[in-house]
Amino acid sequence: MLVEIPELDAADETALQCVESLAYAHSRGAHYVVATKRALAPFVAALGGRFAGILNAIAASYAQSGELRRHLPFRVRVEPRHEAGVQCISDGDSALFLVPAGYFVEPSRVSPSRLVCEDNTDATVIAAAADAHFSRTALTRVGRFALHSFGGGGSSLADQYLAHAQLGPAVAVVDSDRDMSDGALGGTADAVLRAHASSVEGRNVGRPVVLRVRELENLIPAKVMRDMLTSADSREYQERVEMISRSLISESARYADLKSGIPCSMAALLGLPSCSKCQSRGQRETDCAAIAIQGLGVAFLQRMAKLVSTQTARKVGEALFSQSIAAWQVDEWKAIAKIVAAFAFAAKPMRV
Ligand SMILES: [Zn+2]
Repeated sequence: MLVEIPELDAADETALQCVESLAYAHSRGAHYVVATKRALAPFVAALGGRFAGILNAIAASYAQSGELRRHLPFRVRVEPRHEAGVQCISDGDSALFLVPAGYFVEPSRVSPSRLVCEDNTDATVIAAAADAHFSRTALTRVGRFALHSFGGGGSSLADQYLAHAQLGPAVAVVDSDRDMSDGALGGTADAVLRAHASSVEGRNVGRPVVLRVRELENLIPAKVMRDMLTSADSREYQERVEMISRSLISESARYADLKSGIPCSMAALLGLPSCSKCQSRGQRETDCAAIAIQGLGVAFLQRMAKLVSTQTARKVGEALFSQSIAAWQVDEWKAIAKIVAAFAFAAKPMRV
């Protein structure tokens, strides 16, 4: 992430350790530090040695910080105080974390940011989407993408997020599990938001992102679904994939439960065939809860994780941001990717 160092007192031990840690993080490509020559001059004198070289390089690239900020939904500014809370100020599209200098003295907090997801498959796909977004912005010219991904929270995702957020900057991406746009949030998303509000906010640099759609499965682009099919897949499977991929044009597909299956009543909205019982009766019950299309979501997502882990960021970007047939999917991918990429933005490692 982008960390701004203002003018601080180099005689203050905490400020000195903070600048030393951040300079180190910048030089090994964990985060990206911006500061003016004037702000860094007293620290160049105080730290000397190899740190002088790093700080001078940071100061020399200050001119491009304005351009970088335009691509980032948030940034961090160090404040000349030892402790007390982290403040997050929202200003329209961008947010500013005001962080006490003491925060960065802890070594784990200057490691690359952490991405926490419900499982490894989700983490792989989301990290790839963020990397793809990153590679399409000007950020890639001056920096690199550095992120540590963690999956496997499941129902304990809130605890996982809390644990990671205490170690360092953390972003969690979680399914909403909503049935409809104004439906209730699922238990996992609710727990993560509560954990953030009660424990993380005010002390750490972190953010939970709840999908606007039901789950990550709803965001698999139709073309990607079809591209996943192999000649080994049964004809029935191929037909079901084709039907579901076509149905993704419809906005109702945002809240379809692809993980377990599409109920008969939802199938009508998506233009999919009704369940066998309704079919044999020749009419569809509007409240039929039978599963018309058995879940393919898990299989889709696993195949997608395999796919993105073998492709370049450019290819993944093409699949997620331009080849998708549904505009709402592209918008959602971009919204998630932009936030995660901001956490992952780091300087190119320096030779010092
Ligand atoms: Zn039915």
